[in-house]
Amino acid sequence: MVTGGVLLFVALAPRLGWTPVGLAAAVAVMLSLLDVYVRRAERAEWALAFSYLGAVALIAGCVISSGGAASPLLPTFGIPMLLLANRFRGPVTLVGLGIALVAMLASAALPDPAALFASPSLAICTALLMIGIIVLTNQHYKKAEGLRTSGAVDPLTGLLNRASLDARFHDAATSCAGRGLPLSLVLFDIDSFKVINDTHGHDAGDAVLQGIAALLGGGAREHDQVYRLGGEEIGLLLPGLGLTDAAAVAERLRAQVASGLVAGIRVTVSAGVATCDPVGARWLDLYRRADHALLNAKRSGRDRVETSGDAPFAAGERA
Ligand code: GH3
Ligand code: MG
Ligand code: MG
Repeated sequence: MVTGGVLLFVALAPRLGWTPVGLAAAVAVMLSLLDVYVRRAERAEWALAFSYLGAVALIAGCVISSGGAASPLLPTFGIPMLLLANRFRGPVTLVGLGIALVAMLASAALPDPAALFASPSLAICTALLMIGIIVLTNQHYKKAEGLRTSGAVDPLTGLLNRASLDARFHDAATSCAGRGLPLSLVLFDIDSFKVINDTHGHDAGDAVLQGIAALLGGGAREHDQVYRLGGEEIGLLLPGLGLTDAAAVAERLRAQVASGLVAGIRVTVSAGVATCDPVGARWLDLYRRADHALLNAKRSGRDRVETSGDAPFAAGERA
């Protein structure tokens, strides 16, 4: 991305002159080095703050040397806003935004203040762009933070956890009941996970867990709910799917896990599937039946899908 930005500036050089190109290259190099430094440093706040101010100053230089208020580079003030909004919170963000707005207006006015007053549209649009980036990114973070701090998301896998299960199960059941649709649960459990931990180490076990979570969560439809229910147990709540369809989903995912490596390790999963009439459905009842089917899958040799109640749905019966 940085290389693309530099190439863009080089292409614009005949129109803008080489000064902004040099300054833009300096911004690109600084931000790339920062990325490497921040990943290693323990307290990187100061490096981030200086880089932010440096980027704002260099972009101001680019704007001044390429026409001020009429410079097509004015909107590039939006770039350091992404750094600001992603790395800083609260009042620091506002102070940073204020500094950048002053720098933007000053660089637009410096070469010819009259030109800024005569045609301020580009500067106004740039200010709106800068404020917009900060506001939208902050909103996004608040939402993500809200989910994290409410305890609804498991930090290791990014999946939902039990905290919000009751309310979400109730919502799904009510919605299915209203439309006359079934509600199914697939309970996955990683096979012999203890052996994976013992053989490859706990960190490798964590990586496997993350890989499995990404794989199982990746195929979920919009209304499906994917939970980390226990250590290495992942539940898929599938509104609208009956036993056969849910078992087919489980079998597809089981086969997908078994067909390749997860975090470089050969892993298999077993699954138990249960379905319920959503009218008056209770989570614990559905969970117990799916768990019973899962136990059958484990007893039957693992790397299989079993269904609750109906005929067993073994691995390989259906692709
Ligand atoms: P089975 O096929 O019967 O499910 O065998 P298993 O070894 O997977 O089951 P068992 O219940 O004996 O062991 C589960 C292991 O999962 C033990 C526990 O240390 C490990 N585990 C639980 N949570 C985590 C985690 O967050 N990270 C890692 N790396 N391991 C975990
Ligand atoms: Mg297990
Ligand atoms: Mg288990």
